[in-house]
Amino acid sequence: YYNDQTTIFLDGQWLKAGEARASLYSQSMHYGSGVFEGIRSYATAEGTSIFKAEAHYERLIDSAYKMHMPCDYTVSQLVDWTYELLERNGLKDAYIRPLLYLGENMSLQKVSTSHLFICAWEWGRYLGDNLLNVMVSSYERPNPRAVPVSAKVTGHYTNSILATTEAKGKGFDEALLLDENGSVAEGSGANFFFEKDGELFTPPLGNILPGITRATVFELAAQMGIKVNEAYFSPHMVKGADGAFFTGTAAEIAGIEFLDGSPFRLPWKKTIGYRIAQHYQQLVRKTLPKTLINA
Ligand code: PMP
Repeated sequence: YYNDQTTIFLDGQWLKAGEARASLYSQSMHYGSGVFEGIRSYATAEGTSIFKAEAHYERLIDSAYKMHMPCDYTVSQLVDWTYELLERNGLKDAYIRPLLYLGENMSLQKVSTSHLFICAWEWGRYLGDNLLNVMVSSYERPNPRAVPVSAKVTGHYTNSILATTEAKGKGFDEALLLDENGSVAEGSGANFFFEKDGELFTPPLGNILPGITRATVFELAAQMGIKVNEAYFSPHMVKGADGAFFTGTAAEIAGIEFLDGSPFRLPWKKTIGYRIAQHYQQLVRKTLPKTLINA
């Protein structure tokens, strides 16, 4: 992620990654109360482009608000610093990680100071380039009445780490987690879609992170004339569907081959997911044709 030359942003300063300091007494360090983002930049013919930078920083500010964390930055400041960070590190195709964490406090009370750290590095696709062998996790997603699941909070990722560790330990590539009612929610770090009879299905907002890639899939599907249904469904309804995929900034559009050992009906290259994956690559690289109908 970094070496001796890597520059990071910390509280308005440009520092070497190995020399920057953070307090061991930060409340976020002990209780998981930080908020963060995962963003990607892409090399395009018009120069380096951070995909949906504003949407990501709006979500960061919203996450901070939901966690009662101070965050006195504007979206445009955050976007400008991020472009500067890429420039200072000579990065084009990069993964960008802003983290807002709290000041020193060992109590559980609201903390009035926060720190902003932004770093970036080159990172391949989070779930790899192969089709995925997925298991329904024995871990549920966090209950939205217990924590704001629509906020990207560091502590929520203990759940993701447990689910991923379970899945990998059993020889799977990734986990699909259910919500507290037993309906399909999302992956450990990605949203979930499946397809049947030419239409897409995905869980509604409420029990999931409102993914920016998920919203992009809605936009692409609309341009392609494909209906997206937001509905609750059981894993049983997903098994044996035509196809399925995860969506996320880090994962991009990642096709799924098996769920709990049952294969999806169509070969990946014959699915809507595959076409969306191609269009997504064109969109982030600014080469998407203006009209997509039948493309
Ligand atoms: N769900 C979870 C739990 C995630 O961690 C992520 C990655 N941020 C997503 C969904 C996908 O969100 P996005 O498309 O905004 O990256």
